[in-house]
Amino acid sequence: MGQSVLIPANETDRLVAVRALNMAGGSATTPELSALADLARDIFETPFAAVNIIDEDWQRTAAQAGLQLSECARDLSICTRVVFENEILVVPDLAAHPELRGMPYVTGEPGFRFYAGAPVETEAGLPVGALCILDTRPRELGAGERASLARLALVAGALLRLQKANLVMALAERSLRAAAMTDPMTGFFNRSALPTIVDEALEDTLVSGSTFGALYLDMDGFKGINDRFGHHAGDEVLRQAADRIRAVIRGADIAVRMGGDEFAIFIPDPPDAATLALVAGRLVAAFHEPFQADGHTVSARLSVGGALAPQSGRRRVEFLKVVDGALYEAKAAGRNGYRIVGL
Ligand code: GH3
Ligand code: MG
Repeated sequence: MGQSVLIPANETDRLVAVRALNMAGGSATTPELSALADLARDIFETPFAAVNIIDEDWQRTAAQAGLQLSECARDLSICTRVVFENEILVVPDLAAHPELRGMPYVTGEPGFRFYAGAPVETEAGLPVGALCILDTRPRELGAGERASLARLALVAGALLRLQKANLVMALAERSLRAAAMTDPMTGFFNRSALPTIVDEALEDTLVSGSTFGALYLDMDGFKGINDRFGHHAGDEVLRQAADRIRAVIRGADIAVRMGGDEFAIFIPDPPDAATLALVAGRLVAAFHEPFQADGHTVSARLSVGGALAPQSGRRRVEFLKVVDGALYEAKAAGRNGYRIVGL
């Protein structure tokens, strides 16, 4: 019943253009493309019009007007022929066409007899699909009508190109936003992410009765590492410190590089302050082993302060001030240890 699939010479490049439309995860349908399909139907007074995208083995619907037809395999598609030739195809009577007359949409419902399609390009010479009109009666398409069909297809290509550009911009914006909140040295969040991380979690503690734990971490005597071994070795120690922190915390915990040798760990919904002490103890212990940096064996230990919300604060600034106070106490108590508020 199917026809052998007609593969254009530039199929590889063409498929790159098709995939760039990102139709794999869903349809590219927009109100504008749908309006264009409606317009085609109105202009040519046909019961059906569509913008179809031809991917590797399927015909996908970007927009359709009149009937709701399901997507079909490429070897059943007429639009694939338009893509193959990259020019307008008019079939005045499908029932008289040697290869298309046996197609299910000709022999069965909706009983199509007429097809006309114009290539839709997103880049010159690379047709991604076709804008087509179908009728249940045989008919002809005059020269003026052919030109109109080509113009509609031109606009369809421009719309798809715009959609693709919007998608690319949205992705770029997302990664820019993520980069702005990321510390390049450690891959942790930087402190500009604090309001996003903390405000919502504190809100949750009040609304749903959950808890929220915060630990501030500051390495002991870090200035001395820079002084003795140089900034380069200091940077290397910071990177390895981040790896040790990562190895100790859980997937749901959030690590932030606050700046310099100072980090914060946020722990969603810990059962009690003793749990914070457990994590803090593990963090302190993880720094007991010396670091290897620039060929030096470098000892760098850790002090940790922690507190639990909402007990220790309901607002970010107030809560983090308490956490900072706990870190100050851990430092004052001799370093290489932790202090958790309430324990
Ligand atoms: P303390 O035990 O009281 O924490 O003393 P400390 O020497 O660790 O000093 P502090 O935490 O106050 O300061 C951290 C130092 O880390 C300050 C700065 O010289 C250094 N530093 C800050 N950012 C960087 C960085 O990106 N790379 C390197 N190599 N050093 C940094
Ligand atoms: Mg320090």
